[in-house]
Amino acid sequence: MELPEKIRSLKAAKKAVILAHTYQPAEVQDCADYVGDSYGLSVEATSTKAPTIIFCGVMFMAETAAILNPDKNVIIPEPKAGCPMADMITGEDLARLKTEFPDHLVVCYVNSTAEIKALSDVCCTSSNALAIIRQLPLDKGIIFVPDKHLGSYVGEQSGRDLVLWNGFCPTHAKIRPDMIIAARKAHPGALVMMHPEAPHDSRILADKILSTGGMCDFARTDGHTEFIIATESGILHTLKKQNPQKYFYTIQNDITCPNMKKTTLALVAGALEGSSGMKVFVDPVIAQKAKGALVRMLEMSKK
Ligand code: 13P
Ligand code: SF4
Repeated sequence: MELPEKIRSLKAAKKAVILAHTYQPAEVQDCADYVGDSYGLSVEATSTKAPTIIFCGVMFMAETAAILNPDKNVIIPEPKAGCPMADMITGEDLARLKTEFPDHLVVCYVNSTAEIKALSDVCCTSSNALAIIRQLPLDKGIIFVPDKHLGSYVGEQSGRDLVLWNGFCPTHAKIRPDMIIAARKAHPGALVMMHPEAPHDSRILADKILSTGGMCDFARTDGHTEFIIATESGILHTLKKQNPQKYFYTIQNDITCPNMKKTTLALVAGALEGSSGMKVFVDPVIAQKAKGALVRMLEMSKK
């Protein structure tokens, strides 16, 4: 039996649902029940009735699904798929920062460990970070961790002065201004969509700053037919599949996240069979506190 067929039959037998991030390899996206950005995936994880979730993404995403669904079986096919940005701040670092700024509210990007979420007042993703910051009381200072680029973007857009941490995404750090200039020259009619994890000097050259889910929505509804995509290359597959009549160009072929590419169809099948993968476990005390920050994010995103 071919792997996609095997996955389909195992999935039905186990009553499992497969969730995949837009940066996952094309064949993994194609076997998923839902493909989306970090925010969409966390909403989907709370609304699914399936008792088992096979989470194709990186650890912080699977951990988020497990925290939001303590009674479900959340399985990550490749437990070594981490996010280097999430590991750039420790609980001790954040605790120290909180002592330096005791009256500040703490906003953590979802690309963080459960421990960091547990120490935060509210979580955010790239799709709702600005809306959340705008809802925070003006008389309160804000600590934003760990992504300095997303933090500086929402700081600029909201006019709030944020205390930032020096975290960043090594994949998006590869997006350089000369690549945008070259891509615009090659595709003069195309609109540049960029992820807010990209550095400031590149970000100011983009037409639209969007989360990966925001890029999918925008490409579907906007009148442009050509887009230059400045984020991880996996999303090209999602965009082309959803908009077969439109054209999408990467800025450079090596904008890939090695961790996102660790999931394979064989590992997805193994996770369903129970021969590989790992059930995500979060310490219940940490999970309870982290859930508070995530639930606050979900509530504030509805406003
Ligand atoms: P999104 O929230 O846009 O899916 O981004 C997640 C991520 O890890 C980007 O690098
Ligand atoms: Fe983390 Fe960057 Fe990979 Fe996203 S693209 S999972 S931020 S390393």
